[in-house]
Amino acid sequence: MAAAESGFPEGLAPQCGSHHVKPASPLINGETIINIQGKTAIVTGAARGIGRGIAEAFAREGAHVVAADLGLLAQASRAGWNYALSPARELERTAKDIEARGGACVAIEVDVSDRASCQNLVDKTIEAYGRLDILVNNAGIIQTGPIAEFAESDWDRIFAVNVKGIFLMSQAALPHLRNDAGVIINIASVSGKRGFPNMGAYCASKFAAIGLTQSMAAELAESAIRVNAVCPGHVDTAMWSDHLSKTETRQEQYGTETTEDTFGAVVRDLVPLAREQSPDDIAEAALYLTRADSVTGVSLTIAGGYVMN
Ligand code: NAP
Repeated sequence: MAAAESGFPEGLAPQCGSHHVKPASPLINGETIINIQGKTAIVTGAARGIGRGIAEAFAREGAHVVAADLGLLAQASRAGWNYALSPARELERTAKDIEARGGACVAIEVDVSDRASCQNLVDKTIEAYGRLDILVNNAGIIQTGPIAEFAESDWDRIFAVNVKGIFLMSQAALPHLRNDAGVIINIASVSGKRGFPNMGAYCASKFAAIGLTQSMAAELAESAIRVNAVCPGHVDTAMWSDHLSKTETRQEQYGTETTEDTFGAVVRDLVPLAREQSPDDIAEAALYLTRADSVTGVSLTIAGGYVMN
């Protein structure tokens, strides 16, 4: 195409040979670009919180969902951890609730920090649905505290789940994602965009998750696999009610007594839109990134303006 026809000034027209350029996906009825109906999606950390919201949203859109979480495995892995994890039966409840509303969902236990467990999850997914198209790496944990006193074992545990978990799950899923232009979505955090005091291990793990997202996006593009991250701001899940709202400095700073009051005060104080994010907000972003077939390597912040990059 001549420069004048392309609309670019002379000399600045893109030099892509047409044999290198894939055509844009056709719009179906001018709306949906990629229909996820009948596709299979694994969502880790789906027993509760954001993961549950994502599992519900994907099922509403007609995907076959595998809700994956620690379930009974939590008994072993939660030893020594100082905030309550979900009851063992929570995972089954998520899957049953989705099915009761007409969605397709199975619950499968996984510890994302364990290679054999990740492989088992993928094998059982293929057994259940025969294919795997979408992997949402949502499972994550937090622990806060001053870096000078932070326990090495807590550091290792955070990295084992928040970073190695993405690596192990992606490695197990890749042979199947390669079959059909698969999608990986990693749930990172605003803590992967800037550092916060007393959150060194968590922030470092979320920066790592974003780095891994970009690296995998660049590497897997030739297999037509897209890899993106979502960075939530403030979502009122157990991560807040069991841990972040309870830190002494926060309750002192805001003069609040209940964890709900503290969460609300933090949001009003810090978030420009003065609103919390819901699991549905994060699920919307995950759905968008699943369908946006020209988007890879981004980390999309959903935080009411709290972080703007
Ligand atoms: P949540 O309510 O604590 O949910 C996390 C889920 O991950 C839990 O169901 C937990 O299972 C599961 N999990 C933990 N370790 C696991 C492992 N080794 N293998 C498999 N599953 C495991 O927290 P959330 O707020 O929904 O967090 C979801 C993701 O969003 C995390 O990656 C988090 O870092 C990120 N995020 C959250 C916020 C927020 O404001 N809440 C903000 C930014 C980013 P059990 O309960 O059974 O242990």
